[in-house]
Amino acid sequence: MSSSIHPGISSLGNGLNGRVITSRDPAYDQARTVFYGGIDKRPAAIVRVADVSDIQRVIATARDGGYELAVRSGGHSVVGHSTTDGGVVIDLRKMANVDVDPAGRTAWVETGATASQVTEALSRHGLVVGFGDSGSVGVGGITLGGGIGFLVRKLGMTIDSLLAAEVVTADGRHLRADATHHSDLFWAIRGGGGNFGVVTRLQFQLHELPQFTGGILILPATPETIAGFVAAATTAPDELSAIANVMPAPPMPFLPPEVHGRHVILGMMAFAGDDAPAERALAPFRSLATPLADLVKPGPYAAMYPPEDPNYRPTAVARTMFVDSIDLRTSETILEHLSKSDAAMRVAQIRVLGGALARVPADATAYAHRSKPILVNVAAFYQGDADREVRRTWVTQFATTLQPNDNAAYVGFLSDDGEARIRAAYPGATWDRLRKIKATYDPSNLFRLNQNIPPEP
Ligand SMILES: Cc1cc2nc3c(=O)[nH]c(=O)nc-3n(C[C@H](O)[C@H](O)[C@H](O)COP(=O)(O)OP(=O)(O)OC[C@H]3O[C@@H](n4cnc5c(N)ncnc54)[C@H](O)[C@@H]3O)c2cc1C
Repeated sequence: MSSSIHPGISSLGNGLNGRVITSRDPAYDQARTVFYGGIDKRPAAIVRVADVSDIQRVIATARDGGYELAVRSGGHSVVGHSTTDGGVVIDLRKMANVDVDPAGRTAWVETGATASQVTEALSRHGLVVGFGDSGSVGVGGITLGGGIGFLVRKLGMTIDSLLAAEVVTADGRHLRADATHHSDLFWAIRGGGGNFGVVTRLQFQLHELPQFTGGILILPATPETIAGFVAAATTAPDELSAIANVMPAPPMPFLPPEVHGRHVILGMMAFAGDDAPAERALAPFRSLATPLADLVKPGPYAAMYPPEDPNYRPTAVARTMFVDSIDLRTSETILEHLSKSDAAMRVAQIRVLGGALARVPADATAYAHRSKPILVNVAAFYQGDADREVRRTWVTQFATTLQPNDNAAYVGFLSDDGEARIRAAYPGATWDRLRKIKATYDPSNLFRLNQNIPPEP
């Protein structure tokens, strides 16, 4: 490892309000760590930016000095896009202010905040925005990808509550993007990922949520319960969004030891509404089988994001897809594939969509798969390089069986899947429009460490 610092990097700190961390800094190893294990990149510098002028300065340094540029909000990129070998990282974590206007029911959120930080800040006013199923995911990454979570059927995707954004573009301009200012950019960042610049702040429409019921429901996994769960989630009122993780039961303290390792549906249930209709909506799920655990109860929505272990570093391979239905036969296939692997964690995660997500026109944002009814992620943990290939083969075979026509994807869950899969996230005219907008705001593809949309020539 060389300890010499490139001149372009050593002058980066001059006049900066934030902090430059290089390999000479004791904080370097901690600062270069991202959520997923197995990603071990060594940036020339990680810049903990404090404000817009810092971001403009780092962009200029990267652009003019030819450094690869990574942008990090929560660091949860599945493929390590928010770090770089030898380049510069804009680390937004210190820009995490949440400025709520309770009367106007809006909030300006800096993109270094996590989903749980924002949810907690809004909950003090009885207000919400929907993010995903993990509180430590960054608001920057999840919003720019689209955002599919616990409130998706009631409130739509995260981008469906987005009113405006502030973006620093490759040429250093600090732009406001909304329905009337740079509306092309505003369209593109709602699903187009980090391709168009560094998004510094997001303005959200907030929603009242006086009552909420949610938590974990664990059922034995059989073809009947899996298909029944999906059917119940499909016909449930929009207030109910559910995620079914079909997997071997983890050794959770509230599960009897004899259940550990047995195939279960670990359901994450969320009902955005009053207690009595929540009970009615949950009844079909509870009646599928005697629950092995039922922790679903009324309480604050913020409780859906329990504290997480900051040192948790999973190593996983995954494949995302949409499917049209999950019937008994598909459910049998899911259980057969889960039985064929001995990965420490293996899962078919099923999210029934529809509701408010599906009522937004397909061309209103860069997320165009509004009519896709069910999102499925297949994933397995691995340990070491050889094991990764074994798990990858299993994931690929499983995913191909569930969805042989690999022509659609949600960008937020894409791995290192190649250009065809990125195109699958942006069907038809969406891709062409994104490439035009990319050419307008980032013609030299400075922002390319992402699910990349190359600028139109
Ligand atoms: C455990 C886990 C659970 C998840 N659950 C869900 C879920 O329920 N629903 C869902 O929709 N997604 C989910 N995701 C996917 C997640 O939304 C994406 O991985 C997202 O990109 C992570 O955002 P981040 O800011 O934490 O990541 P980072 O690694 O910081 O950023 C990822 C990429 O987003 C771009 N980016 C991030 N911030 C900015 C910014 N401010 N300006 C410009 N570009 C930026 C950059 O290209 C960056 O490389 C999950 C991911 C994980 C790891």
